[in-house]
Amino acid sequence: MDKFVYFFGAGATEGNVKMKAVLGGKGANLADMAQLGLPVPPGFTITTEACAKYYEIGKEKLFAAIKREVEAALARLEAVTGKTFGKGPNPLLVSVRSGAAASMPGMMDTVLNLGLNAETAKALVEKTGNERFVLDSRRRFIQMFGNVVLGVEHHDFEHELAAVKAAKKMKLDTDLDCAALREVIARYLAVVKKATGRPFPEDPMAQLWAGVEAVFSSWNNPRAIKYREINDIRGLLGTAVNVQSMVFGNTGARSATGVAFTRNPSTGENKYFYGEYLINAQGEDVVAGIRTPQQITVAGSREWAKNHGVSEAVRKKEFPALEEAMPELFKQFSDIRVMLEKHYKDMQDMEFTIEDGTLYMLQTRNGKRTAAAAVKIAMDLVKEGLIDEKTAVLRVEPEQLDQLLHPVFKKGCEKSAKALVRGLNASPGAATGQVVFTAEAAEAWSKKDKKVILVRTETSPEDIGGMIVAQGILTSRGGMTSHAAVVARGMGTCCVAGAGDVLVDAKAKKFAVGKTTVKEGDWISLNGSTGMVYLGQLPTEDPQLTGPFADIMALADKFRKLGVRTNADSPEDTTRAVSFGAEGIGLCRTEHMFFDTPGKNEGRTIAIRRLILVAEEVKSIQRQMKIEGDAKALKELQAKLARPMKQYEQALKDLLPLQRKDFIGIFKALKGRPCTVRLLDPPLHEFLPQDDKGRKEMAKQMGITADAVKKLVDGLHEFNPMLGHRGCRLGISYSEVTEMQARAICEAAAQVKDSHAEIMIPLVGNVKEFASQKGHILKIKAEVEKQKKVTLDIKVGTMIEVPRAAITADDIAKEADFFSFGTNDLTQMGCGFSRDDAEKFLSYYKEKGIYDYNPFEVLDQEGVGKLVKIASNLARGVKPDIKLGICGEHGGEPKTIAFCHAIGLNYVSCSPFRVPIARLAAAQANITAPR
Ligand code: ADP
Ligand code: MG
Ligand code: MG
Repeated sequence: MDKFVYFFGAGATEGNVKMKAVLGGKGANLADMAQLGLPVPPGFTITTEACAKYYEIGKEKLFAAIKREVEAALARLEAVTGKTFGKGPNPLLVSVRSGAAASMPGMMDTVLNLGLNAETAKALVEKTGNERFVLDSRRRFIQMFGNVVLGVEHHDFEHELAAVKAAKKMKLDTDLDCAALREVIARYLAVVKKATGRPFPEDPMAQLWAGVEAVFSSWNNPRAIKYREINDIRGLLGTAVNVQSMVFGNTGARSATGVAFTRNPSTGENKYFYGEYLINAQGEDVVAGIRTPQQITVAGSREWAKNHGVSEAVRKKEFPALEEAMPELFKQFSDIRVMLEKHYKDMQDMEFTIEDGTLYMLQTRNGKRTAAAAVKIAMDLVKEGLIDEKTAVLRVEPEQLDQLLHPVFKKGCEKSAKALVRGLNASPGAATGQVVFTAEAAEAWSKKDKKVILVRTETSPEDIGGMIVAQGILTSRGGMTSHAAVVARGMGTCCVAGAGDVLVDAKAKKFAVGKTTVKEGDWISLNGSTGMVYLGQLPTEDPQLTGPFADIMALADKFRKLGVRTNADSPEDTTRAVSFGAEGIGLCRTEHMFFDTPGKNEGRTIAIRRLILVAEEVKSIQRQMKIEGDAKALKELQAKLARPMKQYEQALKDLLPLQRKDFIGIFKALKGRPCTVRLLDPPLHEFLPQDDKGRKEMAKQMGITADAVKKLVDGLHEFNPMLGHRGCRLGISYSEVTEMQARAICEAAAQVKDSHAEIMIPLVGNVKEFASQKGHILKIKAEVEKQKKVTLDIKVGTMIEVPRAAITADDIAKEADFFSFGTNDLTQMGCGFSRDDAEKFLSYYKEKGIYDYNPFEVLDQEGVGKLVKIASNLARGVKPDIKLGICGEHGGEPKTIAFCHAIGLNYVSCSPFRVPIARLAAAQANITAPR
């Protein structure tokens, strides 16, 4: 028989920490903490396998299958706690908590105080003599159960609560007295009746099963699904359900609840025990931002007070640290902090509750953290001897590094900016954007390519969509562990939270700080590292790779085998990439060299257009001349050729020095590193104006009619340009262009010491295409070497991006010095998907599981990857040490990088900002599967 229920606590723990897959992270760690002898309220875990079965066979059958086990565990829980579920005199209340194998904070559901009804409430009052506490627990239970299980709108309850508070002139939840709470409960019960058409369920056993079902079904609520999609969490069975005896942080002044981190999750610092708590509170109160949370340590509390302009006297009296309010419990908790971190060898995020002077641990898990914190903590743990270097490298998510590569505010610009307000530095980074007040607005605006800052009183899980697209998030309520702060840190989005002076009026689409009003669409800037908020748009700059970031990168370089190059086509990008650790350029596209940059007319655009204008004419006359036998006719053709030929040659002459200058700049920036240069690739029509206005301008410039321009554009029209006259096909037709580019490269290389150019021919499918182009290049190389009296280190290789090239790679390898896999085109042609049209159908493919990922983002390893593998093996068969790299978008994607490592490529090439990500991913690949 399958076992679906595991008990934990009181010396009777059945599960263990290794059982995350079946117990979920929360359940496994509760079992583990119980085994370590920590004060964990006892309970039991219903496995994720039960959840999978729930979806497979349905509720009735599943519940029938687990009923006995659940009842037995409940009886055991009653015995251990000395309480009875659903009955006095000492009623047992439980929490029903979700918890999957991967942590998904706040995405699924939890119900507290379950088992309360009129009868057990009465017994509990008699038992504790604390009516207020019981009423408070009951109103919480009705609201949570009503919302989570019965599907009543959260807002409907909040509305009643606010009404009672207003009528009684009470501000905080803790102000509510028994009479007020009774009123709230009566209203809540009416809300439930109205919304569901039935009275609130009073039978505790029915409550329990309904709670279990609600947790199971929360596994597939839209926000949980979205969260798993965004975080690429796959292959899990479902969520476990933890049924745990309640402990109460809301019995009065000697009780409390809170959240703490063993180290600062925002910076990674280990200065003091970091966390927040509230006296006389329960569950999510701290996170929900309904009261101002207090700090765990005095040091933390003082820093908080400083940031909030709270005087020391007021701080001590109204917001004392746990260290001051409950010094002995603080000591006990501090010891647990040290113990748990040593035990798990990682920063922990803990939930705790204090009931009448007794501390209970409710959860521990590896804490979510910013990239800066991840890097610092990993390096610190190495120094502290808790983990080794390889483990440290594995501790940082490569994608997460992206956060550290985002721009920061330009040095000094904050000094002169208009400071608006200061909040908590909840998630670091710099953000500038236009203010919006709802998640929907954030999504709508960003669809129109606008940068937005989402401003809310507080955020809730429904805001996820808007939070993802926002540059930054600003909230007026909530602490460092509020929803906004936690989610923003997880996403690497800049966030300033709890800026209390910000008065948000979302309806009127504005907020006020003192006398200043900021409206929807106004620009503001956030510094998530300091908590400062500024009016207007502040300039940003590249971050520096220093401190622990530099250290972990050095470790990554120590452990990786795969080289990392960059895709860059300007000296600026090259310099940036080199500063990020690029070992060379893997793809230097040359199409930009045929275009003037806006506002800088160097004559590039006009030159290439002049060339295109006559190119076909030149070639056609030359063809005729080849077959013309008659001398007179030949003479006529020669005369006819003269004018267009002059224009053709002049255009190339104009382009040569401009491109040479570009290459000189890039070679200099590379300081001796290699540079793979791809010759002209896009179809020629991309260089011509597409609209009327552009055509008129071009006509004027060229001294021809607009009609002639239109004719030219029409003449270059192709039904499928992706498979048309482009790539080496251009070089085959117009070899003079190949020669001009080769000359520019060779002359630049002759001029810059220690240059190592690798000329790459695009879109080769047949070795003869390659050989022909290579011939032109080598001829030019020899000419330049002779002219300049130098020997050039220039290699000639090809892009492998046409399936035919991949499967004839052995033939091509005989001629080529190197291969670079152009996986964008190889995916297009390999899968037969046009990249520009694929979005339309790929979403269906992903839904049906035909492709797990968009193959343009994550390399399709079984298909396109197989082409890469076949080509690599064929090539090495004829030339064992041929250099192999990849330069498609995929080159910066960690899963693809692991694949490239595994099949033995020499390097990946990616955009400058992804270079550190690729270095780390390559190191992780070699640590997990050394080659
Ligand atoms: P989440 O996964 O969203 O954090 P949890 O299941 O951890 O949800 O529950 C949320 C909060 O409820 C916890 O932080 C804790 O404070 C409180 N809680 C859960 N179970 C209990 C319990 N048995 N006794 C007291 N408080 C509890
Ligand atoms: Mg929790
Ligand atoms: Mg290509």
